[in-house]
Amino acid sequence: MPANKKLLLLPGDGVGPEVMHEVRRVIDWMARRRRASFELAEDLVGGAAIDAHGSAISAATVARAKEADAVLFGSVGGPKWDTLGFDNRPEIAILTLRRELGLYANLRPAIVLDPLLDASTLKPDVVRGLDLMIVRESTGGIYFGEPRGVETLPDGQQRGFNTETYTTHEIERVARVAFELARKRQNRVTSVEKANVMESGLLWRQVVTALAAREFPDVTLSHMYADNCAMQLVRNPRQFDVIVTSNLFGDLLSDLASMLTGSLGMLPSATLGDTDPTTGRRYALYEPIHGSAPDIAGRGIANPLGQLLSFAMLLRHSFAMEEDAAMIERAATNVLASGLRTADVMAPGAAQVGTSVMGESILRELEKLAA
Ligand code: NAD
Repeated sequence: MPANKKLLLLPGDGVGPEVMHEVRRVIDWMARRRRASFELAEDLVGGAAIDAHGSAISAATVARAKEADAVLFGSVGGPKWDTLGFDNRPEIAILTLRRELGLYANLRPAIVLDPLLDASTLKPDVVRGLDLMIVRESTGGIYFGEPRGVETLPDGQQRGFNTETYTTHEIERVARVAFELARKRQNRVTSVEKANVMESGLLWRQVVTALAAREFPDVTLSHMYADNCAMQLVRNPRQFDVIVTSNLFGDLLSDLASMLTGSLGMLPSATLGDTDPTTGRRYALYEPIHGSAPDIAGRGIANPLGQLLSFAMLLRHSFAMEEDAAMIERAATNVLASGLRTADVMAPGAAQVGTSVMGESILRELEKLAA
C-alpha cells in the first residue's frame, strides 16, 4: 500500500470544511481498506485564518504547503470579511499559494456524467459523454503584465491600461502540460489565442507549433481563435479533447465550459507547477471550482462531489493512483445514477439528500466497487 505521501488539507470557510469532511471519510476508508495511507496535515486559510491570526495564510502554512506532496484546498471567503481591504482578503490565501508554489497550469475538466445529462442547459444530444480538459495558463498574461494602471490624460480624461505579455518559457511550460495530458487522453490538443489581432497570440501560436514538432510529434495539434472557440464550445463541445490557452481566455472559456455540465458543485480543478529538482516533487494544488457558498453554509446541504472529485484528480495527477481515482469517480456516477441528489443538482423523481448522506452513499459504493 502506498504510504507516507504528505497531504495538506486546507478546508477554508463556508461550505469548505463541510465538503472536506466527506473527503476525510474517504481518506479514512482508504486507510481502513489498506489501499493507501497519507501523512495528513490540516491548516487554516481564508477568513478562518484572518480570525485566528490576522492574515489569510500564514508563513507556516505556506511552508507546510511547500513540504506537502499535494495540497487539497476547500474554498475561502464570505460576507464577514467582505469589508476588508484588497490586501487582506480571504482570497489572498489562494493567490499566495499559486505564487509561492509557482502554480502556472490550471486544469479544468468539463465532464458530463450520464445521470446529470439534464442538468445542462444544452440539449442532451450535444453534451452526452462530454469529457474535455481546459489547461489555462494561470500566472502570466494580462492579469499580471506591466505596465498597468489608471492615468489622467492632459485633457482630464482617465485612461486604464493592462498589458498582455508572454515569454517563450511561459508558453512552453503550460503547453507541455497540455501535450502530456493529451497523451493520456485522446491525444489531441487545441491551442487557443487571437493570433490574428495580438502579437502575444502570434508568439503563442509559433511557440506551441515549434514545441509540438520538437517534443510531441505524436499528438494532433490544431489552433483556434478564442472567439471561435467560445462558439464551438457551445455548438459542438465534444470536438475537443485538451484545450490550452492564456490566463484571460482560459478564465472565460473554462467558466463557459463548466456550465456545459450545469452543476457548479460537481466540478474539480487542479493547478500544477514545476517539479522541484532537489525533491523530484511537482507542486500541485487541487480544489473544487465553487466558492464558499455562504448562502447555504452551515445547513448541511452542500454538494461534496466537487471536493471529492478534486481529491480523485489529486490521486491521479500527484500520486499516480489511477485505479483509486477512477474508483472514486465511478462511485460518484453510480450514486447519482441510483437517484440520490443534493439540492443543487436535484431532478424530478430523484431523492434529495444532504452532504453527509451523499458522503455515506459514496462510501457504501466504494465498498461495493472494492469488493
Ligand atoms: P459560490 O461558488 O460560492 O456560490 C455560487 C452558487 O453556487 C451559490 O448559490 C451556492 O450556494 C452554489 N454552490 C456553490 N458550491 C456549492 C456546493 N458545493 N453545493 C451546492 N451549491 C453550491 O460563488 P459566490 O457566491 O460568487 O462566492 C461566495 C464566496 O466564495 C465569495 O466570498 C467568493 O469570493 C468566494 N469564492 C472563493 C473561491 C475559492 O475559494 N477558490 C472561488 C469562488 C468564490
